[in-house]
Amino acid sequence: MKLIKNALIADGDQTKIVDILFDNKIIKIAPSISNHNAQIIDAKGNPVIPGCLDAHVHFNQPGFEYHEDFYTGTKSAAAGGISTIIDMPSTSLPPVTNVENMEHKLQAVQQNALVDFAFWGGIRANDLPDIDNQIQKLWDAGVVGFKIYTISGMDTFGALEYEEISKLLSQHQDLLFAFHAEDAQIIKKNKTKYECSHNPQNYSKIRSIEAEATAVRNILKNRNNHIHFVHISSKKAAELIINSKLQSDVTFETCPHYLQFTAEDLDKLRGRLKTAPPVKFSADREYLRNCLIDGKLDFVTTDHAGSDWETEKNLPDFSQAYNGIPGIQLMIPYLFSEFYLNDKISLARMIEITSAKAAKRFGLYPNKGSMQVGTDADFTVINLSKELIVDEKELYSKGKYSPFFEQKFNCSIAQTIVRGEIVFDENKGILAKPGYGKFLKRS
Ligand SMILES: [Zn+2]
Repeated sequence: MKLIKNALIADGDQTKIVDILFDNKIIKIAPSISNHNAQIIDAKGNPVIPGCLDAHVHFNQPGFEYHEDFYTGTKSAAAGGISTIIDMPSTSLPPVTNVENMEHKLQAVQQNALVDFAFWGGIRANDLPDIDNQIQKLWDAGVVGFKIYTISGMDTFGALEYEEISKLLSQHQDLLFAFHAEDAQIIKKNKTKYECSHNPQNYSKIRSIEAEATAVRNILKNRNNHIHFVHISSKKAAELIINSKLQSDVTFETCPHYLQFTAEDLDKLRGRLKTAPPVKFSADREYLRNCLIDGKLDFVTTDHAGSDWETEKNLPDFSQAYNGIPGIQLMIPYLFSEFYLNDKISLARMIEITSAKAAKRFGLYPNKGSMQVGTDADFTVINLSKELIVDEKELYSKGKYSPFFEQKFNCSIAQTIVRGEIVFDENKGILAKPGYGKFLKRS
């Protein structure tokens, strides 16, 4: 049994100090608890929030372990205050497109995971048209939804046309679909107008605002479906989604890089900031920040995707550099430092975007994403009196780079607790053994 003393928790839009008693589940939350058998963790008045959830990561196992695997990925998660991750279907071999492949992936990763994890299923062009049966079985096996790309750089996971998407969605109105939304034709055309080999910021004009908005607009025509948009990067696309929330069940996420950087930063940060879709312009960044503050944005994810700095990222030809940022270790310190400590959002709003809303959307609530008696004892303890200067060498990910390198955050992660076990402690490092992380099914 463990007892967190002096935890600052959300109480409506206010906060209060409590003690929290737990084993693998939460036993009691009260203004003051004494228990002589419990191991004491003194939060010293720091925020304690429901264990954070990153609903969009690429941990690449099995198949692309040279980029990342579940051991390095979940270590990075634990050190970043993330107690649950949801892994994408596209960056493993075989991809998670049927139950057999899902079981194969589960076998490969479960001995490596330090934090709890769920899987996305996916639908790729390679498998159409005969997959209706497989999709339903995969949904029943517990994937949180189905990822679809409208543009893909992966030979092993081809993109779908809008017509194929509409046909598929009309046959599966009970399921949840997630989209990487960028219009392939517009991007193809823009490539003839702009070059980004030597002008990195042109990358944001090639994979443009219009490309994202056009794909979003086409997908939103499928009004009877449950739709989630991953990594939205532009104001125009976000507005389309927000405006359609009245008629449709639609949600969207953005990532820390879109909240902090713009195309101009690509010239300096180059491979460190290269991702797809690319960061956009200052009006987009400001709009997304306001959505985070005012509640229009559903939640934040990292789109964590590591790769080798020297051979895949730090290339003289920017157009050849790998698309991906390994952000999972830094997202929570960044969000607390940039938004909570600057008085832009309440602790309650922080919990929505880091824990609660994604857990609800993907069928993991209330065991994940909440702090109630009887639910999983997952906590992220923030240390507001210790700053973090981003040192790329200290990232547990195989990707040793970050667009936030050398930046200072005014807080750090004190502990990450998963089902009652401290998996990371800022003074002791990683404490959980690989294999502790448990596979979660959507319920
Ligand atoms: Zn992704």
